[in-house]
Amino acid sequence: MDRARVCVLGSANMDLVVFADRAPAMGETVAGERFVTIPGGKGANQAIAAARAGADVAMVGAVGVDPYGDELVGVLREAGVDVRGLARSGDAPTGTAHILVESGGDNSIVVVPGANGTVQAAVSGLDVALDGAGLLLLQLELPLDAVVDGARAGRAHGVKVVLTPAPAQALPGELFESVDLLVPNEHEATILTGKTDVEAAAAALLDVVPEVVVTLGARGALWLDRDGGRLEVPAPEVAALDTTAAGDTFVGALAVALGEGQPMRDALGWATTAAALSVRKEGASTSMPHRAEITEAIAAR
Ligand code: ADP
Repeated sequence: MDRARVCVLGSANMDLVVFADRAPAMGETVAGERFVTIPGGKGANQAIAAARAGADVAMVGAVGVDPYGDELVGVLREAGVDVRGLARSGDAPTGTAHILVESGGDNSIVVVPGANGTVQAAVSGLDVALDGAGLLLLQLELPLDAVVDGARAGRAHGVKVVLTPAPAQALPGELFESVDLLVPNEHEATILTGKTDVEAAAAALLDVVPEVVVTLGARGALWLDRDGGRLEVPAPEVAALDTTAAGDTFVGALAVALGEGQPMRDALGWATTAAALSVRKEGASTSMPHRAEITEAIAAR
């Protein structure tokens, strides 16, 4: 079997994570238990998840000329990600994500884009990174122009363009035109369609893209395509400690399986298994499983 080749155009952030019993209400102060810094950003997360799951990955984006930027480049390299397309911006600091994790595992996040906001519509390095790739992974933590341009470049190269529509927001039709597979979580599916029912939201999304996977948290994932295909894959039952980057782990692993030519049902099983492994551990990049762990967990299922 050939290794999957995945290109990621997206954000790299330093996650500044605080753990507290519960989130404060507006105007309230609560005591936190602990604070850690963890390399993250949806782009870097998906790149690391895909690399750990066994793909050749190239990442395109930007970090600042600062210690957080150095650390992100180092972590991506260590995971085996090709970072030649990751620019160093002298104009802006590395992006940061300020994350609060409650004891039950739920999280809330404020993202400050920094260098991610400097990524231009005509993304330099993207054409090189797309050369020979099977899939392009996009999210919404870069300027929208860059994402639209990236999707078009992916389509022009004939790669499968996969969009994670997060952070949740309404999106222009011109973006969907170049997207092959949309992977929202339930909240994002609702924001995009105005429908709270998952089936109805997924069905409505088929009006704008040919294929949709809605991730359903602890309930797994739902896949629909325009040819009437429908699959529902449950998530393995695990004790969730921190669901940060569960969706990114899911998408990274899904891309690897699809890039290897696995049928959608197997690819969804692979992705739900990888994501379940990630929620048992803290953090984003720190929680993502390696290929051997995923394979072992699938054999044990
Ligand atoms: P996001 O992390 O983007 O909010 P979800 O919460 O839907 O997205 O999670 C993405 C995927 O991670 C799910 O489809 C599921 O496979 C896995 N996952 C999330 N939470 C759990 C959990 N508590 N137990 C097992 N798997 C989970």
